[in-house]
Amino acid sequence: MTSLLEAAAAGASAEDLLAIPMPESTRAAFVLRSEQDMFAGMESNDKDPRASLHVGEVAIPELAPDECYIAVMASSINFNTVWTSIFEPLSTFGFLDRLGKESIWGKRHALDYHVVGSDASGIVLRTGSAVRNWKVGDQVTVHCNYVDDQDPSAHNDSMLAANQRIWGFETNFGGLADISVVKANQLMPKPTHLTWEEAAVNALCNSTAYRMVVSPNAGHMTQGDKVLVWGASGGIGSFAVQYVLNGGGTPVAVVSSPEKVALMKGLGVEHVIDRREKGYKFWKDEHTQDESEWRRLGKDIRGLVGDDVDMVFEHPGRSTMGASVFVTKRAGKIVTCAATSGYMIEYDNRHLWMKLKSIIGSHFANYREAWAANQLICEGKIVPPLSAVETLDTVGEAAYQVHHNLHEGKIGVLCAAPSEGLGITNPELRAQVGEDRLTVFRRHGA
Ligand code: NAP
Repeated sequence: MTSLLEAAAAGASAEDLLAIPMPESTRAAFVLRSEQDMFAGMESNDKDPRASLHVGEVAIPELAPDECYIAVMASSINFNTVWTSIFEPLSTFGFLDRLGKESIWGKRHALDYHVVGSDASGIVLRTGSAVRNWKVGDQVTVHCNYVDDQDPSAHNDSMLAANQRIWGFETNFGGLADISVVKANQLMPKPTHLTWEEAAVNALCNSTAYRMVVSPNAGHMTQGDKVLVWGASGGIGSFAVQYVLNGGGTPVAVVSSPEKVALMKGLGVEHVIDRREKGYKFWKDEHTQDESEWRRLGKDIRGLVGDDVDMVFEHPGRSTMGASVFVTKRAGKIVTCAATSGYMIEYDNRHLWMKLKSIIGSHFANYREAWAANQLICEGKIVPPLSAVETLDTVGEAAYQVHHNLHEGKIGVLCAAPSEGLGITNPELRAQVGEDRLTVFRRHGA
């Protein structure tokens, strides 16, 4: 590890950090363009991130005026790193090549390696000449909405920007590295009561769930709403159930094991469905759905909460969308951000139009939404679902775990932080929020 990273991890002053030269390269996790066809013809489940994700030294690019270098203390595994590492549904080098054609700064991204990762907590090492709100030494978390704010389409809701991208997925120089490059408008304050690894697992999933459940741009939940949350102990689901509880709603959490049921109870969720125990078979075969199974789910939900749900937090996609549209209440919303099990969706449209339901597409979050979601973490109202910690050297294994649904909540990845448990600067707030609440996923997985 270079002395600049050691100094940052030890809490050096801005002056001291500026006195140490920036290294020319950094340790990072990346996939290779030359290997983008390595899994051709294989089933999705057999494509192994441990074979495609490499860890090694890569050059640090020149800094654009609106960017910062950050020392990444910790990062996390998101499902988009799984997609990149199995080259599905397509190779992400196409994204980098398109960005490369946009500007001289974009050109830096079109390389034969793709440094992945869309989360980070860390310390600002250098600021570009146009950066005003952040300074060297600031402790930050990073959200992954990457937009060119000189484009008029990026204003109002920046998720609607024509050039909106996800950092570390559709751009290079992502967060799974010791040093990363981010736009200044990706930075947010690090929650002072959290460790580096706790602070690193939130921005992507927390902001996504905030927009889907809370924001007027998507679910806009109101008090009393009943919300079905698929994958409620997973990355985005574990934030979604917290938002429903916080907003005075009633979550109906769907998970797939008794352990995950217990975890939901530990988080304060009363109504939990174990989909594996129930054995729902929404698809009779590859082409035919079974409406009686949708009805069975609807009956189970009414048995728990006495009514149909106002909203479904949808992301499994093909496996569940037919059921999700069916079980939603008249005029209810199905908010979707993904299609893990397949994106060619089928549902019975009669149940949608006759009952005036809406399907709402949602994707990550704009800066304002990400900031609001981060603020709730800073105040201890939302807790990080950190269940396990890996190191950058074992990033392939961590991505494998997420690919095969062997994890709960989020897996943190230590990068420049020398060990776990560091980074807390407000122990009083930590005590107030409660160690038990903050570590509910970690203790459960232990
Ligand atoms: P995750 O941690 O793997 O959690 C997903 C959960 O969904 C799993 O734990 C599993 O829970 C459940 N699930 C998986 N397949 C299912 C199926 N066929 N039927 C029912 N439930 C199923 O992943 P995540 O981080 O929450 O992300 C979920 C999806 O959202 C991914 O596709 C990801 O790429 C996407 N995403 C999109 C955005 C965006 O901005 N658009 C942001 C974040 C994530 P159980 O087995 O316990 O039921």
